[in-house]
Amino acid sequence: MTAKHILICGAGIGGLTAATAYAKAGARVTVFERAEKISEVGAGIQQSPNAMAVHAALGTASDIAAYSFAPDAGTLRDYKTGAVKLRTQMDVAYKARYGHPYLHIHRADLIAILLNHAKRAGTTILTGHSVSGYKQDKTGITALTNQGDFQGDLFVGADGINSLIAGQMHGETPARFTGQMAWRGTVKASDVPSGIIPKEAAVWVGPGAHFVTYYLRGGELINFVAVKERSKHTEESWSKPGDMQALQKAFSGWDAAVTALLSACTTCFEWGLFDRPVLPTWHDGRAVLLGDACHPMLPFMAQGAAMAIEDAWALSQLTANADDLPAAFSKYETMRKPRASKLQAISTGNAAMFHAAGPAAIIRDAKLTVARALPLAAALRFDPIYGYDITKEI
Ligand SMILES: Cc1cc2nc3c(=O)[nH]c(=O)nc-3n(C[C@H](O)[C@H](O)[C@H](O)COP(=O)(O)OP(=O)(O)OC[C@H]3O[C@@H](n4cnc5c(N)ncnc54)[C@H](O)[C@@H]3O)c2cc1C
Repeated sequence: MTAKHILICGAGIGGLTAATAYAKAGARVTVFERAEKISEVGAGIQQSPNAMAVHAALGTASDIAAYSFAPDAGTLRDYKTGAVKLRTQMDVAYKARYGHPYLHIHRADLIAILLNHAKRAGTTILTGHSVSGYKQDKTGITALTNQGDFQGDLFVGADGINSLIAGQMHGETPARFTGQMAWRGTVKASDVPSGIIPKEAAVWVGPGAHFVTYYLRGGELINFVAVKERSKHTEESWSKPGDMQALQKAFSGWDAAVTALLSACTTCFEWGLFDRPVLPTWHDGRAVLLGDACHPMLPFMAQGAAMAIEDAWALSQLTANADDLPAAFSKYETMRKPRASKLQAISTGNAAMFHAAGPAAIIRDAKLTVARALPLAAALRFDPIYGYDITKEI
């Protein structure tokens, strides 16, 4: 059988992972990216053990580890005092429990590593190629781009939350504003009083808002994500410069660690957080979706990219050499939809938990006190998420 030609729309985390996975499974791969240059705005991303399992299978894990920071623990803290409400040991404990580390990496570094591996695996990456849709018949599928048409056997829509490919499959349904505004940025660790920001995945939780910090690049940078509930949103662009004064004001009166970090910060990005329900069907003939294109989620469990990475593995292993594509797509969707839906629900639930106020905050804190007393039970809750290794399943 001749190698399949896989067309991929989008060179984000999901698209690039799929490119390498397909190429390593023996397929010929062409990726279309509308941006002229593949890059990411300055901010971090967490790669949990379930994502690292795929990176290990694809050979990208050691490069990712070399550019990452491994947090000692994950903590939930009080927004005013910084007192720890819950601590979960991560670094050594996670490696022992799940077989893979939990790492923090700069998005630009992650994308550069994934791009490098995709190229080394022999894929063709075409930047400045904006896809406008696809057409197909029994013999193949064509990606329509601003630079011409490209024929292939299978077309993967890895084009993110505002997926044009999903729009062609299902009709355009705008993503919905979740009532959450986010700011994110990085600060040099040397610009912040030493030791004030813990070497953890730290989340300060307060009424209607939360604040996340973690270190990047071996501890050189501190990444933050600040989230506050709002009825209105600004643009949905990840690269819109944020208003530092508005950000500092939104978190004034918070724990000294938070305010010190924001005082040291000079630039940030701000945007509204959007989502949409998990799509009912992820494929149409020879076209198929992965990642945010079919199941965007709030970032409050740090699993959106992890799900895209797991999708990329599943899709490539099930379809690269499949004779019966519809059956393989059905299997992919049947395997992936329950997990993506569950993670989407957990992420939404975390918004309510992080932002609880009044009696709801008292109930949350009581539950966290119980969890503190039963660390094993708390750890067990994460097993289905972080302990899942899709490379062992397929
Ligand atoms: C604040 C925040 C923090 C987060 N933190 C984490 C975290 O710690 N861990 C985690 O796992 N996830 C996290 N996520 C989620 C994660 O960023 C996304 O789930 C992930 O980036 C989705 O990847 P993707 O490849 O599906 O889509 P995208 O990253 O959106 O990539 C889509 C790509 O397709 C391209 N494209 C779009 N349309 C076209 C077109 N028509 N033609 C050609 N190219 C096109 C785009 O330019 C882009 O390069 C976070 C999200 C946010 C907002």
